[in-house]
Amino acid sequence: MTLRPILIHPDPRLKKLCAPVPDLSDALRKLADDMLETMYDAPGIGLAAPQIGTLERLIVLDCVKETGEAPRPLIMFNPEVVASSDDKSVYEEGCLSIPEQYADVERPAEVSVRWIDRDGNEQQEDFAGLWATCVQHEIDHLNGKLFIDYLTPLKRQLITRKMQKLKRDRARV
Ligand SMILES: [Zn+2]
Repeated sequence: MTLRPILIHPDPRLKKLCAPVPDLSDALRKLADDMLETMYDAPGIGLAAPQIGTLERLIVLDCVKETGEAPRPLIMFNPEVVASSDDKSVYEEGCLSIPEQYADVERPAEVSVRWIDRDGNEQQEDFAGLWATCVQHEIDHLNGKLFIDYLTPLKRQLITRKMQKLKRDRARV
């Protein structure tokens, strides 16, 4: 497996609508495995293909955070929210493409998601808690949407300026 570099906001590839995956291939499965490896290494609980510059509808996640609990890596091709609760919940979100910036985002507390798994089988499952927040955050990435798009323009600009500075600093090293 190969670690892939994660794009940092602002980057035009993070603002694009990603295309549905037409057919699973070994290359796509390898990409998904690389994404999981990259996510665990970061470390993070979710990663979307556009974050490594691939504009296809693929996300990976694992929101098991307790040490000692078995990991639960999920690979989702063409994930789709098919139902959401009226109940909302607020989580302090972060993003591997926006390092060290966190903000409260309100989203439906529970969602039902349908996707194609690594073996090409259709799956559907209800998610709640951190899983619900994470899967919605990752699906947003496939539509060119970042968690900072839920914030006020002022807050968003502040974070974007910090990221521009971070990228300049990193380029200098
Ligand atoms: Zn993210």
